[in-house]
Amino acid sequence: MDAKGKKEEKKEDGYSAEAHLIYGKMDDPKWDYSHHLLPPISASATFRLDSARRGAQGFAEFAHSSDELTVRSRAPIYIYDRLGEPNKDMLEENLAFAEGGDIAVTFTSGMAAVSGILGILTGAGSEILAHKTLYGCTYSLLTTWYPRLKIGAKFIDFTDINEVRRSITRSTRVLYVESPVNPTLRLIDLRAIAELAASVNKTRSDVDRIYTVVDSTFATPYCQRPIGLGIDFVVHSLTKGIGGFGTDIGGVVIGPRWSLDLLMLYRKDFGGVLSSKSAWPVLVQGLPSLALRMRQMQETAMIVAEFLSTRKEIECTRYPGLPSFNQAALARAQMVDYDGNFAPGAMIYFVMRGEKASDALAHAERFINHIAQNAYCITLAVSLGNIRTLVEHPGSMTHSAIPAEEQVAKGLDPGGIRLAIGLEKPGDIIKDLTFSLEAAG
Ligand SMILES: *Cc1c(COP(=O)(O)O)cnc(C)c1O
Repeated sequence: MDAKGKKEEKKEDGYSAEAHLIYGKMDDPKWDYSHHLLPPISASATFRLDSARRGAQGFAEFAHSSDELTVRSRAPIYIYDRLGEPNKDMLEENLAFAEGGDIAVTFTSGMAAVSGILGILTGAGSEILAHKTLYGCTYSLLTTWYPRLKIGAKFIDFTDINEVRRSITRSTRVLYVESPVNPTLRLIDLRAIAELAASVNKTRSDVDRIYTVVDSTFATPYCQRPIGLGIDFVVHSLTKGIGGFGTDIGGVVIGPRWSLDLLMLYRKDFGGVLSSKSAWPVLVQGLPSLALRMRQMQETAMIVAEFLSTRKEIECTRYPGLPSFNQAALARAQMVDYDGNFAPGAMIYFVMRGEKASDALAHAERFINHIAQNAYCITLAVSLGNIRTLVEHPGSMTHSAIPAEEQVAKGLDPGGIRLAIGLEKPGDIIKDLTFSLEAAG
């Protein structure tokens, strides 16, 4: 306590993670919203500068976070929205907190965040080692665009740590995975990957070290925080579980302090900046309701997964919460909420039965079409982590950038279906599933 009886520590100290997701950092000279219950939408593309000197100082300070100690005691000099503005700053502060990282930089979409982090870590001659199953657009980025920049990509099985070790070369700069993998729900042992990178880095200098990047979109920070397991960078599509309501597209990179200036410069020059009008709903609705939504959705996911695993029309059901899940021990070790409880998430993957691949595919198509036309509580749509339950067929939709003849080798089943559980009651989702499974069988 100081002389006035005010606590010396920050107001938010000592409260739960969930409280921080609702309130964020209360006292910060970066924003002046102390009389608003909620921060208003910042809708100013440019900012008034009092003098040429102040303008020059603003430009000089941009992306020089080493000066931050001198800047921290007063409001920053905002110049232009693409360089930074209050809504995004507040959102980034809370996203960094949510993942346990030093800093967060938002982007206009999940893909802009993926290309942002890979953009600062690689250059001509670098190689990215990635898990063989990847979100379709990430796969397309690595195979369509990066060859033009002479950035190589190799796809291997990251569930086999020895294969990862054997595949690392002098050119390897990034180990890139999703966990849980979209859409198969395979898990990658993140601690093992971080330890492998750390041991290789012992023999490397700063310029050729390897960085680990995890796309944690399927988990959300409520269910897993890879930085705490030793991973360098986490990326998210804010469009999914963090945004939660499906109103806006966005992305974020969370990582160590040294990366802040590079990410800010990259975002400024490549221009994939998150609109303040899209940052705002994530800040005032998405993050504050994340814990509540995820708790409810994963409770429902468990019931729905158990239901699916009893159905004769289905070959196999994969959900990290099921006792039959083939990586159950890893799931319990790395998917935990802020209180340390097991948090297997709200995504389910299941494969329709069929004697041949073409039969399974046809079965999946009949099932999906029946849902699209008849279901009330399940919608055929891509995206996930929404308050509405969504279903899709990855092979022909989200992962169609992976050529059909390579899909099976890349872990995608022709009859595979992705189900993203929402906030409906389990009985309502099961009612729709039962009806369509019977009709398609
Ligand atoms: C949706 C998604 C992305 C891309 O995010 P956008 O916001 O659509 O650009 C990246 N990775 C995963 C795992 C996703 O599900």
